[in-house]
Amino acid sequence: MIYNGIDFDTYFKNYPTEDGYFGKYGGVYVSDELKAAMQEITDAYFTICKSRKFIAELRRIRHEFQGRPTPISHLDRLSESIGNVQLYVKREDLNHSGAHKLNHCMGEALLAKYMGKKKVIAETGAGQHGVALATAAAHFGLECDIYMGSVDIKKQAPNVARMKILGARVVEVTEGLQTLKEAVDAAFAAYANEYKDAIYCIGSVLGPHPFPMMVRDFQQVVGIEARDQFTSMTGELPDAIVACVGGGSNAAGFFSGFLNDPVDIYGIEPLGRGTKLGDHAASLKYGEEGIMHGFNSIMLKDEKGEPAPVYSVASGLDYPSSGPEHAFLRDIGRVKYDVIDDEEAIDAFFRLSRMEGIIPAIESSHAVAYGIKLAKEMGKGSVLINLSGRGDKDMDYVLENFGLR
Ligand SMILES: *Cc1c(COP(=O)(O)O)cnc(C)c1O
Repeated sequence: MIYNGIDFDTYFKNYPTEDGYFGKYGGVYVSDELKAAMQEITDAYFTICKSRKFIAELRRIRHEFQGRPTPISHLDRLSESIGNVQLYVKREDLNHSGAHKLNHCMGEALLAKYMGKKKVIAETGAGQHGVALATAAAHFGLECDIYMGSVDIKKQAPNVARMKILGARVVEVTEGLQTLKEAVDAAFAAYANEYKDAIYCIGSVLGPHPFPMMVRDFQQVVGIEARDQFTSMTGELPDAIVACVGGGSNAAGFFSGFLNDPVDIYGIEPLGRGTKLGDHAASLKYGEEGIMHGFNSIMLKDEKGEPAPVYSVASGLDYPSSGPEHAFLRDIGRVKYDVIDDEEAIDAFFRLSRMEGIIPAIESSHAVAYGIKLAKEMGKGSVLINLSGRGDKDMDYVLENFGLR
């Protein structure tokens, strides 16, 4: 399918380019030393991850350890309550450890093992990426250092406990605001010292090349499974698909299965408390081009041009930029990016819980809320939503801050 001059039959061969660009977005904006480390990972990715042995091992792990394929569920009662549109969810909440993140963490950690590295390093904000990586590291017998701001360590006690039980070292970062940005800086600095023995594992389709490509490729399993399952369930393609976008990894993998199909694709960003800068994290909707954390993309900037403070009720979505591939898909119009605010997400959280017996992550609730909105507008057809994770981690927070609805 050719869309706005882009040939989607050969899309994955051409995007990203050899130097890591999706159009003008992407690239490698890091020190020369880290550039060499990124090149080593890129070379290893193309030789190791494309080998028959690696692919076979990852496939076995996906099945025997992660519990894949995850199913697609038809939302009977929710669909009926809206009208004639049929709603479906791809159940990444049933992936081992409760979200899609393990899909790329298992790939990254298996690559580390094949490269002969002894350790994986990452930062974490809410702790979800840290838990997924600690899970993968434990499985493969790798050391695991997770950098986390002091403020986040206090806020996310259950995830800190999980990481420690899984054998990871949680390294407290006490600089600046003591949250995600400082944790990223500290993790990068540690990696610059340790890259001979360690590999940095990014938590989304972000950072310098090859990460946006590599993380997308490891997440493609979601889109490939979803397309197969949906077509064998219903005999046709969905009319529309929806995923939430923080950095954009669950969306990138899910969308990849449908980019070459006549399917409307929606990526949903968090509008938080409203449109004022600082009250949301909708970078693709309100941001501008800029470089941060080693790559060029669309970002929210403050008056000095630095990454702006962001907010969302979903801690997994509050990042001031999105992956370069999303910026590209936005510009060419293949994917439409829209927003859902805190209140709408919380409503959807309760609606899916009450009507279907599925408690979604607040991140995923943004996609569910948009799917419901879309279904009302469409009047007929089908919508497939990527349910990126389960909401157990969010229950106390929701009850305390929003009450029972
Ligand atoms: C981390 C997280 C997200 C956001 O990350 P993406 O890279 O945008 O997919 C979404 N949903 C859940 C459940 C998460 O844990």
